[in-house]
Amino acid sequence: MSMRSRSTVWRLMAGRQALRLAVLGIAFACAGFAHAWVALDVGHNLDKPGATSARGRTEFEFNRDLALEIARALQAQGVEARLINADGSIRTLTARARAASGAELLIAVHHDSVQPQFLTPWAHDGMERLRSGDRFSGFSLFVSRRSTDLGAGLRCASAIGAGLIEDGFNPSLYHAEPVPGEFKPFADRTNGVHYFDNLVVLKEATMPALLLEAGVIVNRDEEERLLDPVRMRRMAGAIARSIRSCLAARRIGAARPVHF
Ligand SMILES: [Zn+2]
Repeated sequence: MSMRSRSTVWRLMAGRQALRLAVLGIAFACAGFAHAWVALDVGHNLDKPGATSARGRTEFEFNRDLALEIARALQAQGVEARLINADGSIRTLTARARAASGAELLIAVHHDSVQPQFLTPWAHDGMERLRSGDRFSGFSLFVSRRSTDLGAGLRCASAIGAGLIEDGFNPSLYHAEPVPGEFKPFADRTNGVHYFDNLVVLKEATMPALLLEAGVIVNRDEEERLLDPVRMRRMAGAIARSIRSCLAARRIGAARPVHF
């Protein structure tokens, strides 16, 4: 199939998927509490789909699928969730932050690659692709010290990391390594949370915000694991339970009288 017709098919498929997601979004909006909702921002867009997996799938597709599972899991936990950029049409990070306005928490959903010097060419389906070594795997979480409410964002990021570890997922930790492009200091090493102060989507958000890298898609084995729908649901369930408990603790904290 030519690149042009392949692109047309992809856009049609993306359009249908977006319609389904929009219907689901309305259902989530009706099912939850009108005053409190979680924004799930699908990272990247159709024109700039982010990283490319070891087998050539775009990061945007991974992000959209996982964000949808997290939204479903949150709904099952009684927490309203709204997807931002599910159709891949949002072009600017500032527009994402604006679309999340009014949310109690913003989670940017991404999948990870590695620095170019750690990528090696390999052949897959007759195409040359890039893959990383096995040393890079696992999830990472990021918060910005320039964000509106670092304390709340960090508490939720730590809760998500702890929930994932409890369910058998491992934090990658390599973003803290002293190599060019990394060296992101730990905010909570135990739970795989780093500071990434200049991430625009985090620092421009008007609510507590965090970014999740769910796994390393240039690692061939991890790519397969990330595509497993059962594992994806388990990951989304762990994330949703952690979000629910972190938001519940925040609401209780806000409602409790302060004594001096
Ligand atoms: Zn990304």
